[in-house]
Amino acid sequence: MTSIPESRAFLRYCRRYRLSPESFRQTLREFEDSQFHDFDKLRRRQADLLRETIGFAFENVPYYRKLARTLPGDPCEYADAARYQDWPVLTRQELLDAGTSLHAPPPVRGVTISSSSGTSGRPVVTMHDAATRHTLHAARARALGWYGAAPWGRMAMLVSQRLGHVRRTLSHVADIFAGRRRNGTFSLTQREAEKVTRRFSRLRAPVLLAQPSLLHRLIWFASHAGTDLRTWGTRVVLSNSEVLTPAVDREATAAFGCPVLNEYGCTEVGSLAHRCPQGGLHTNPEHVLLEIIDDQGRHVPPGVPGKVVLTSLRNRAMPLLRYVVGDAAVWSDRPCTCGRQPGMRVVQSVEGRLANAWRDGSGRLTAAMSAAAEWQARLHEEGYIESQFVRRDSAAVALRLEPAVAPSAETAAWLCERLAEWLGGPVDVVFEGRLPQRSGSGKLSPTLQD
Ligand SMILES: [Zn+2]
Repeated sequence: MTSIPESRAFLRYCRRYRLSPESFRQTLREFEDSQFHDFDKLRRRQADLLRETIGFAFENVPYYRKLARTLPGDPCEYADAARYQDWPVLTRQELLDAGTSLHAPPPVRGVTISSSSGTSGRPVVTMHDAATRHTLHAARARALGWYGAAPWGRMAMLVSQRLGHVRRTLSHVADIFAGRRRNGTFSLTQREAEKVTRRFSRLRAPVLLAQPSLLHRLIWFASHAGTDLRTWGTRVVLSNSEVLTPAVDREATAAFGCPVLNEYGCTEVGSLAHRCPQGGLHTNPEHVLLEIIDDQGRHVPPGVPGKVVLTSLRNRAMPLLRYVVGDAAVWSDRPCTCGRQPGMRVVQSVEGRLANAWRDGSGRLTAAMSAAAEWQARLHEEGYIESQFVRRDSAAVALRLEPAVAPSAETAAWLCERLAEWLGGPVDVVFEGRLPQRSGSGKLSPTLQD
Protein backbone atom coordinates (compact mmCIF):
# COMPACT_ATOMS: atom_id res chain seq x y z
CA MET A 1 0.00 0.00 0.00
CA THR A 2 1.45 3.35 -0.95
CA SER A 3 -1.15 5.71 0.55
CA ILE A 4 -1.57 6.06 4.26
CA PRO A 5 -4.91 4.49 5.20
CA GLU A 6 -5.54 7.31 7.71
CA SER A 7 -5.77 10.06 5.10
CA ARG A 8 -8.91 12.12 4.53
CA ALA A 9 -9.24 10.57 1.10
CA PHE A 10 -9.27 7.13 2.69
CA LEU A 11 -12.01 8.13 5.15
CA ARG A 12 -14.02 9.73 2.37
CA TYR A 13 -13.72 6.53 0.36
CA CYS A 14 -14.92 4.48 3.34
CA ARG A 15 -17.96 6.75 3.75
CA ARG A 16 -18.76 6.58 0.04
CA TYR A 17 -18.77 2.75 0.01
CA ARG A 18 -20.17 2.20 3.51
CA LEU A 19 -16.96 0.69 4.88
CA SER A 20 -15.90 0.85 8.49
CA PRO A 21 -12.38 2.42 8.41
CA GLU A 22 -11.19 0.14 11.20
CA SER A 23 -12.54 -3.08 9.64
CA PHE A 24 -11.32 -2.00 6.22
CA ARG A 25 -7.77 -1.41 7.50
CA GLN A 26 -7.85 -4.83 9.10
CA THR A 27 -9.11 -6.50 5.89
CA LEU A 28 -6.40 -4.69 3.92
CA ARG A 29 -3.75 -6.02 6.30
CA GLU A 30 -5.17 -9.55 5.97
CA PHE A 31 -5.11 -9.32 2.19
CA GLU A 32 -1.56 -7.95 2.18
CA ASP A 33 -0.43 -10.96 4.22
CA SER A 34 -2.44 -13.67 2.53
CA GLN A 35 -1.17 -12.90 -0.99
CA PHE A 36 2.13 -14.52 0.02
CA HIS A 37 0.57 -17.60 1.61
CA ASP A 38 1.40 -20.78 -0.21
CA PHE A 39 -1.07 -22.94 -2.04
CA ASP A 40 -1.73 -25.36 0.86
CA LYS A 41 -2.39 -22.58 3.32
CA LEU A 42 -4.71 -20.72 0.93
CA ARG A 43 -6.56 -23.93 0.07
CA ARG A 44 -7.03 -24.80 3.75
CA ARG A 45 -8.38 -21.31 4.40
CA GLN A 46 -10.69 -21.60 1.38
CA ALA A 47 -11.94 -25.00 2.57
CA ASP A 48 -12.72 -23.51 6.02
CA LEU A 49 -14.59 -20.57 4.46
CA LEU A 50 -16.44 -22.94 2.13
CA ARG A 51 -17.50 -25.17 5.02
CA GLU A 52 -18.80 -22.13 6.93
CA THR A 53 -20.60 -20.82 3.82
CA ILE A 54 -22.29 -24.15 3.05
CA GLY A 55 -23.26 -24.56 6.71
CA PHE A 56 -24.69 -21.04 6.81
CA ALA A 57 -26.56 -21.46 3.52
CA PHE A 58 -28.00 -24.81 4.60
CA GLU A 59 -29.21 -23.35 7.90
CA ASN A 60 -30.48 -19.97 6.70
CA VAL A 61 -31.20 -19.77 2.98
CA PRO A 62 -34.47 -21.39 1.83
CA TYR A 63 -33.14 -22.24 -1.64
CA TYR A 64 -30.15 -24.16 -0.26
CA ARG A 65 -32.13 -25.74 2.58
CA LYS A 66 -34.40 -27.26 -0.03
CA LEU A 67 -31.50 -28.25 -2.27
CA ALA A 68 -29.54 -29.88 0.56
CA ARG A 69 -32.49 -32.20 1.29
CA THR A 70 -32.12 -33.67 -2.20
CA LEU A 71 -28.36 -34.32 -1.88
CA PRO A 72 -26.96 -37.53 -0.42
CA GLY A 73 -24.97 -37.14 2.82
CA ASP A 74 -24.27 -34.18 5.07
CA PRO A 75 -24.08 -30.92 3.04
CA CYS A 76 -20.90 -29.89 4.89
CA GLU A 77 -19.09 -32.91 3.41
CA TYR A 78 -19.22 -31.07 0.08
CA ALA A 79 -16.73 -28.51 1.39
CA ASP A 80 -14.04 -31.06 0.66
CA ALA A 81 -12.28 -30.03 -2.57
CA ALA A 82 -12.78 -33.42 -4.24
CA ARG A 83 -16.44 -33.61 -3.26
CA TYR A 84 -17.45 -30.02 -4.06
CA GLN A 85 -17.64 -30.81 -7.78
CA ASP A 86 -20.72 -32.92 -6.97
CA TRP A 87 -22.57 -29.89 -5.65
CA PRO A 88 -24.97 -28.84 -8.45
CA VAL A 89 -24.21 -25.61 -10.29
CA LEU A 90 -26.56 -22.64 -10.11
CA THR A 91 -27.39 -21.19 -13.51
CA ARG A 92 -28.31 -17.59 -14.16
CA GLN A 93 -31.86 -18.66 -14.98
CA GLU A 94 -32.11 -20.62 -11.72
CA LEU A 95 -30.85 -17.57 -9.85
CA LEU A 96 -33.49 -15.38 -11.51
CA ASP A 97 -36.21 -17.96 -10.83
CA ALA A 98 -35.14 -18.46 -7.22
CA GLY A 99 -35.92 -14.82 -6.39
CA THR A 100 -35.91 -14.08 -2.66
CA SER A 101 -35.47 -17.76 -1.71
CA LEU A 102 -31.73 -17.15 -2.19
CA HIS A 103 -31.75 -14.37 0.41
CA ALA A 104 -30.79 -15.06 3.99
CA PRO A 105 -33.45 -13.66 6.30
CA PRO A 106 -32.56 -10.69 8.55
CA PRO A 107 -30.62 -9.96 10.78
CA VAL A 108 -27.87 -9.70 8.15
CA ARG A 109 -27.09 -5.97 8.43
CA GLY A 110 -25.64 -3.28 6.18
CA VAL A 111 -26.78 -4.94 2.99
CA THR A 112 -26.24 -3.25 -0.39
CA ILE A 113 -28.15 -4.26 -3.48
CA SER A 114 -26.52 -4.42 -6.91
CA SER A 115 -27.95 -5.09 -10.31
CA SER A 116 -25.91 -6.61 -13.14
CA SER A 117 -25.74 -4.77 -16.46
CA GLY A 118 -28.15 -7.18 -18.12
CA THR A 119 -25.68 -7.83 -20.96
CA SER A 120 -27.35 -11.19 -21.53
CA GLY A 121 -30.99 -10.52 -20.86
CA ARG A 122 -32.71 -9.68 -17.57
CA PRO A 123 -30.43 -8.04 -15.00
CA VAL A 124 -29.56 -10.14 -11.98
CA VAL A 125 -30.12 -8.46 -8.63
CA THR A 126 -27.77 -9.53 -5.85
CA MET A 127 -27.25 -8.48 -2.24
CA HIS A 128 -23.91 -8.03 -0.50
CA ASP A 129 -23.31 -7.72 3.20
CA ALA A 130 -20.76 -5.46 4.89
CA ALA A 131 -18.09 -8.21 5.16
CA THR A 132 -18.24 -8.83 1.42
CA ARG A 133 -17.95 -5.13 0.64
CA HIS A 134 -14.80 -4.93 2.75
CA THR A 135 -13.19 -7.88 0.97
CA LEU A 136 -14.13 -6.66 -2.52
CA HIS A 137 -12.65 -3.24 -1.91
CA ALA A 138 -9.58 -4.77 -0.25
CA ALA A 139 -8.95 -6.96 -3.30
CA ARG A 140 -8.97 -3.95 -5.62
CA ALA A 141 -6.90 -1.85 -3.20
CA ARG A 142 -4.32 -4.62 -2.90
CA ALA A 143 -4.03 -4.89 -6.69
CA LEU A 144 -3.71 -1.12 -7.19
CA GLY A 145 -1.05 -1.16 -4.47
CA TRP A 146 1.03 -3.46 -6.71
CA TYR A 147 1.23 -0.50 -9.11
CA GLY A 148 1.90 2.16 -6.48
CA ALA A 149 -1.69 3.47 -6.52
CA ALA A 150 -4.77 3.32 -4.29
CA PRO A 151 -8.50 3.39 -5.00
CA TRP A 152 -9.08 6.29 -2.61
CA GLY A 153 -6.78 8.60 -4.58
CA ARG A 154 -7.98 10.69 -7.53
CA MET A 155 -9.55 8.56 -10.22
CA ALA A 156 -10.63 9.35 -13.78
CA MET A 157 -13.34 7.06 -15.09
CA LEU A 158 -14.35 6.28 -18.65
CA VAL A 159 -17.36 4.00 -18.54
CA SER A 160 -20.43 3.22 -20.59
CA GLN A 161 -23.45 4.74 -18.98
CA ARG A 162 -26.87 5.91 -19.99
CA LEU A 163 -28.33 7.95 -17.17
CA GLY A 164 -31.19 10.41 -17.00
CA HIS A 165 -30.45 13.99 -15.96
CA VAL A 166 -31.24 13.52 -12.25
CA ARG A 167 -29.21 10.36 -11.80
CA ARG A 168 -26.33 11.86 -13.75
CA THR A 169 -26.30 14.91 -11.47
CA LEU A 170 -26.40 12.75 -8.33
CA SER A 171 -23.63 10.57 -9.65
CA HIS A 172 -21.57 13.68 -10.49
CA VAL A 173 -21.94 15.06 -6.96
CA ALA A 174 -21.05 11.68 -5.39
CA ASP A 175 -17.97 11.53 -7.64
CA ILE A 176 -16.77 14.96 -6.57
CA PHE A 177 -16.90 13.90 -2.91
CA ALA A 178 -15.12 10.65 -3.75
CA GLY A 179 -12.35 12.48 -5.66
CA ARG A 180 -13.38 10.98 -8.98
CA ARG A 181 -14.30 12.36 -12.40
CA ARG A 182 -16.50 10.18 -14.51
CA ASN A 183 -17.18 10.37 -18.20
CA GLY A 184 -20.22 8.24 -18.87
CA THR A 185 -20.88 7.65 -22.52
CA PHE A 186 -22.27 4.94 -24.72
CA SER A 187 -19.83 4.91 -27.58
CA LEU A 188 -17.20 7.64 -27.46
CA THR A 189 -17.32 10.04 -30.41
CA GLN A 190 -14.43 12.22 -31.54
CA ARG A 191 -16.04 15.29 -29.94
CA GLU A 192 -16.53 13.48 -26.63
CA ALA A 193 -12.96 12.22 -26.77
CA GLU A 194 -11.74 15.83 -27.05
CA LYS A 195 -13.88 16.83 -24.07
CA VAL A 196 -12.61 13.87 -22.01
CA THR A 197 -9.03 14.77 -22.91
CA ARG A 198 -9.49 18.36 -21.68
CA ARG A 199 -11.11 17.27 -18.39
CA PHE A 200 -8.85 14.36 -17.55
CA SER A 201 -5.57 16.04 -18.47
CA ARG A 202 -6.35 18.72 -15.84
CA LEU A 203 -7.31 16.17 -13.21
CA ARG A 204 -3.92 14.41 -13.21
CA ALA A 205 -5.41 11.30 -11.60
CA PRO A 206 -2.97 8.48 -10.86
CA VAL A 207 -5.67 5.94 -11.80
CA LEU A 208 -7.66 5.87 -15.03
CA LEU A 209 -10.48 3.36 -14.78
CA ALA A 210 -11.72 2.52 -18.25
CA GLN A 211 -13.78 0.07 -20.22
CA PRO A 212 -11.44 -1.34 -22.91
CA SER A 213 -13.58 -0.53 -25.98
CA LEU A 214 -13.92 3.10 -24.86
CA LEU A 215 -10.25 3.24 -23.98
CA HIS A 216 -9.44 2.09 -27.51
CA ARG A 217 -11.61 4.85 -29.00
CA LEU A 218 -10.04 7.47 -26.77
CA ILE A 219 -6.53 6.40 -27.79
CA TRP A 220 -7.53 6.24 -31.44
CA PHE A 221 -8.90 9.79 -31.51
CA ALA A 222 -6.03 11.13 -29.41
CA SER A 223 -3.41 9.62 -31.68
CA HIS A 224 -5.16 10.99 -34.79
CA ALA A 225 -5.27 14.44 -33.16
CA GLY A 226 -1.61 14.22 -32.14
CA THR A 227 -2.48 14.37 -28.41
CA ASP A 228 0.09 12.91 -26.05
CA LEU A 229 -1.83 11.01 -23.35
CA ARG A 230 1.34 10.52 -21.29
CA THR A 231 0.96 14.12 -20.09
CA TRP A 232 -2.07 13.04 -18.01
CA GLY A 233 0.32 11.63 -15.43
CA THR A 234 -1.56 8.30 -15.23
CA ARG A 235 0.27 5.77 -13.09
CA VAL A 236 -1.95 2.80 -13.91
CA VAL A 237 -4.89 2.15 -16.23
CA LEU A 238 -7.49 0.02 -14.47
CA SER A 239 -9.35 -1.97 -17.11
CA ASN A 240 -12.68 -3.52 -16.20
CA SER A 241 -16.27 -4.27 -17.37
CA GLU A 242 -15.17 -5.85 -20.66
CA VAL A 243 -12.52 -8.28 -21.83
CA LEU A 244 -9.15 -6.56 -22.17
CA THR A 245 -7.95 -7.74 -25.57
CA PRO A 246 -4.19 -8.02 -26.19
CA ALA A 247 -4.49 -5.23 -28.79
CA VAL A 248 -6.04 -2.69 -26.38
CA ASP A 249 -3.62 -3.82 -23.69
CA ARG A 250 -0.63 -2.95 -25.91
CA GLU A 251 -2.17 0.30 -27.17
CA ALA A 252 -2.93 1.58 -23.67
CA THR A 253 0.51 0.71 -22.32
CA ALA A 254 2.15 2.61 -25.17
CA ALA A 255 -0.26 5.57 -25.21
CA PHE A 256 -0.21 6.27 -21.45
CA GLY A 257 3.34 5.08 -20.84
CA CYS A 258 2.18 3.09 -17.81
CA PRO A 259 1.02 -0.46 -17.03
CA VAL A 260 -2.54 -1.70 -17.41
CA LEU A 261 -4.13 -3.48 -14.46
CA ASN A 262 -6.65 -5.94 -15.82
CA GLU A 263 -9.46 -6.49 -13.32
CA TYR A 264 -11.89 -9.34 -13.84
CA GLY A 265 -15.07 -9.09 -11.85
CA CYS A 266 -18.83 -9.40 -11.93
CA THR A 267 -21.66 -7.68 -10.11
CA GLU A 268 -22.95 -10.89 -8.54
CA VAL A 269 -19.73 -11.80 -6.71
CA GLY A 270 -17.38 -8.80 -7.13
CA SER A 271 -13.64 -8.70 -7.81
CA LEU A 272 -12.58 -12.11 -9.09
CA ALA A 273 -9.02 -11.65 -10.36
CA HIS A 274 -6.37 -8.97 -10.84
CA ARG A 275 -3.31 -8.97 -13.03
CA CYS A 276 0.00 -8.35 -11.30
CA PRO A 277 2.86 -6.35 -12.88
CA GLN A 278 4.51 -9.63 -13.94
CA GLY A 279 1.44 -10.53 -15.98
CA GLY A 280 -0.29 -13.23 -13.89
CA LEU A 281 -4.07 -12.82 -13.56
CA HIS A 282 -4.34 -13.82 -9.88
CA THR A 283 -7.68 -14.90 -8.46
CA ASN A 284 -8.80 -13.58 -5.08
CA PRO A 285 -9.14 -16.83 -3.11
CA GLU A 286 -9.81 -14.92 0.12
CA HIS A 287 -13.40 -14.29 -0.91
CA VAL A 288 -14.15 -16.31 -4.01
CA LEU A 289 -13.64 -19.87 -5.18
CA LEU A 290 -13.25 -19.78 -8.97
CA GLU A 291 -13.60 -22.97 -11.00
CA ILE A 292 -13.55 -23.49 -14.78
CA ILE A 293 -15.60 -26.42 -16.07
CA ASP A 294 -16.53 -28.01 -19.39
CA ASP A 295 -20.06 -28.77 -20.63
CA GLN A 296 -20.04 -32.06 -18.70
CA GLY A 297 -19.19 -30.25 -15.47
CA ARG A 298 -15.59 -31.49 -15.26
CA HIS A 299 -12.72 -29.17 -14.36
CA VAL A 300 -10.83 -28.20 -17.51
CA PRO A 301 -7.04 -28.51 -17.67
CA PRO A 302 -4.85 -25.43 -18.30
CA GLY A 303 -5.05 -24.05 -21.83
CA VAL A 304 -8.61 -25.30 -22.42
CA PRO A 305 -11.46 -22.74 -22.39
CA GLY A 306 -14.39 -23.49 -20.09
CA LYS A 307 -17.25 -21.94 -18.13
CA VAL A 308 -16.47 -19.86 -15.06
CA VAL A 309 -18.17 -21.09 -11.88
CA LEU A 310 -18.08 -18.93 -8.74
CA THR A 311 -18.68 -19.44 -5.05
CA SER A 312 -18.82 -16.36 -2.84
CA LEU A 313 -17.09 -17.28 0.40
CA ARG A 314 -18.02 -14.34 2.64
CA ASN A 315 -21.44 -13.12 1.60
CA ARG A 316 -24.02 -13.92 4.24
CA ALA A 317 -26.77 -11.79 2.69
CA MET A 318 -27.07 -13.90 -0.45
CA PRO A 319 -24.53 -16.74 -0.64
CA LEU A 320 -23.98 -18.06 -4.16
CA LEU A 321 -22.62 -21.59 -4.45
CA ARG A 322 -21.23 -22.75 -7.79
CA TYR A 323 -22.84 -19.97 -9.78
CA VAL A 324 -22.30 -20.18 -13.56
CA VAL A 325 -21.74 -16.50 -14.19
CA GLY A 326 -21.92 -16.82 -17.99
CA ASP A 327 -18.26 -16.11 -18.82
CA ALA A 328 -15.63 -18.27 -20.50
CA ALA A 329 -12.02 -18.34 -19.28
CA VAL A 330 -8.81 -20.36 -19.55
CA TRP A 331 -6.32 -21.39 -16.85
CA SER A 332 -2.65 -20.73 -17.57
CA ASP A 333 -0.28 -23.70 -17.63
CA ARG A 334 2.44 -21.57 -16.01
CA PRO A 335 2.54 -20.12 -12.51
CA CYS A 336 3.23 -16.42 -12.09
CA THR A 337 6.82 -15.42 -11.38
CA CYS A 338 5.99 -12.56 -9.00
CA GLY A 339 6.11 -14.67 -5.83
CA ARG A 340 2.46 -14.08 -4.88
CA GLN A 341 0.22 -17.08 -4.16
CA PRO A 342 3.08 -19.55 -4.72
CA GLY A 343 1.84 -22.81 -6.23
CA MET A 344 -1.58 -21.44 -7.20
CA ARG A 345 -2.49 -21.24 -10.81
CA VAL A 346 -3.42 -18.02 -12.54
CA VAL A 347 -5.94 -17.29 -15.27
CA GLN A 348 -4.49 -17.07 -18.77
CA SER A 349 -7.37 -15.23 -20.39
CA VAL A 350 -11.00 -14.31 -19.89
CA GLU A 351 -12.89 -14.96 -23.10
CA GLY A 352 -16.01 -12.89 -22.47
CA ARG A 353 -19.62 -13.99 -22.35
CA LEU A 354 -20.37 -17.63 -23.10
CA ALA A 355 -23.19 -16.55 -25.37
CA ASN A 356 -20.66 -14.71 -27.59
CA ALA A 357 -17.98 -17.41 -27.51
CA TRP A 358 -17.32 -19.55 -30.55
CA ARG A 359 -17.32 -23.35 -30.49
CA ASP A 360 -15.34 -25.68 -32.74
CA GLY A 361 -16.72 -28.44 -34.96
CA SER A 362 -17.07 -30.77 -31.94
CA GLY A 363 -18.96 -28.13 -29.95
CA ARG A 364 -16.04 -27.31 -27.67
CA LEU A 365 -15.46 -23.73 -26.56
CA THR A 366 -12.61 -21.89 -28.27
CA ALA A 367 -10.59 -18.85 -27.27
CA ALA A 368 -11.74 -16.87 -30.33
CA MET A 369 -11.81 -13.62 -28.38
CA SER A 370 -8.05 -13.72 -27.94
CA ALA A 371 -7.52 -14.74 -31.58
CA ALA A 372 -9.70 -11.84 -32.77
CA ALA A 373 -7.10 -9.37 -31.49
CA GLU A 374 -4.84 -10.23 -34.45
CA TRP A 375 -7.68 -9.84 -36.95
CA GLN A 376 -8.65 -6.52 -35.41
CA ALA A 377 -5.07 -5.24 -35.47
CA ARG A 378 -4.93 -5.80 -39.23
CA LEU A 379 -8.18 -3.86 -39.69
CA HIS A 380 -6.94 -1.02 -37.45
CA GLU A 381 -3.91 -0.69 -39.72
CA GLU A 382 -6.29 -0.21 -42.61
CA GLY A 383 -8.05 2.65 -40.84
CA TYR A 384 -10.99 0.90 -39.16
CA ILE A 385 -11.58 2.10 -35.63
CA GLU A 386 -13.65 -0.91 -34.64
CA SER A 387 -14.53 -4.34 -35.94
CA GLN A 388 -16.76 -7.21 -34.88
CA PHE A 389 -16.95 -10.80 -36.11
CA VAL A 390 -20.37 -12.44 -36.00
CA ARG A 391 -20.43 -16.18 -36.56
CA ARG A 392 -23.53 -17.19 -38.48
CA ASP A 393 -22.73 -20.89 -38.81
CA SER A 394 -19.65 -23.08 -39.14
CA ALA A 395 -18.83 -21.69 -42.60
CA ALA A 396 -19.95 -18.04 -42.45
CA VAL A 397 -18.77 -15.05 -40.48
CA ALA A 398 -20.32 -11.61 -40.85
CA LEU A 399 -17.97 -8.66 -40.54
CA ARG A 400 -19.12 -5.35 -39.05
CA LEU A 401 -16.84 -2.36 -39.37
CA GLU A 402 -16.56 1.27 -38.35
CA PRO A 403 -16.54 3.05 -40.74
CA ALA A 404 -19.05 0.75 -42.43
CA VAL A 405 -17.02 0.47 -45.62
CA ALA A 406 -16.02 -2.84 -47.21
CA PRO A 407 -12.40 -3.87 -46.63
CA SER A 408 -9.93 -4.19 -49.49
CA ALA A 409 -9.93 -7.47 -51.46
CA GLU A 410 -6.50 -8.23 -50.03
CA THR A 411 -7.64 -7.80 -46.41
CA ALA A 412 -10.83 -9.78 -47.05
CA ALA A 413 -8.74 -12.66 -48.44
CA TRP A 414 -6.36 -12.44 -45.48
CA LEU A 415 -9.31 -12.61 -43.05
CA CYS A 416 -10.82 -15.61 -44.88
CA GLU A 417 -7.53 -17.41 -44.57
CA ARG A 418 -7.09 -16.62 -40.87
CA LEU A 419 -10.67 -17.52 -39.96
CA ALA A 420 -10.49 -20.77 -41.97
CA GLU A 421 -7.34 -21.66 -40.06
CA TRP A 422 -9.06 -20.88 -36.78
CA LEU A 423 -12.34 -22.64 -37.51
CA GLY A 424 -10.75 -25.63 -39.24
CA GLY A 425 -12.47 -25.34 -42.64
CA PRO A 426 -13.36 -22.91 -45.42
CA VAL A 427 -15.17 -19.77 -44.24
CA ASP A 428 -17.13 -17.12 -46.06
CA VAL A 429 -16.43 -13.70 -44.59
CA VAL A 430 -19.37 -11.49 -45.48
CA PHE A 431 -19.13 -7.71 -45.05
CA GLU A 432 -22.40 -6.72 -43.43
CA GLY A 433 -22.40 -2.99 -44.13
CA ARG A 434 -23.25 -2.01 -40.58
CA LEU A 435 -21.42 -0.83 -37.50
CA PRO A 436 -20.32 -3.14 -34.65
CA GLN A 437 -23.17 -3.51 -32.16
CA ARG A 438 -22.90 -2.88 -28.42
CA SER A 439 -25.04 -4.73 -25.91
CA GLY A 440 -27.88 -2.90 -24.18
CA SER A 441 -25.47 -2.01 -21.38
CA GLY A 442 -22.88 -0.59 -23.77
CA LYS A 443 -20.43 -3.49 -23.87
CA LEU A 444 -18.73 -4.32 -27.11
CA SER A 445 -17.68 -7.88 -27.80
CA PRO A 446 -15.16 -8.48 -30.66
CA THR A 447 -16.87 -11.80 -31.42
CA LEU A 448 -20.54 -12.70 -31.40
CA GLN A 449 -22.37 -15.95 -32.03
CA ASP A 450 -25.57 -15.56 -33.98
ZN1 LIG B 1 1.96 -12.45 -10.25
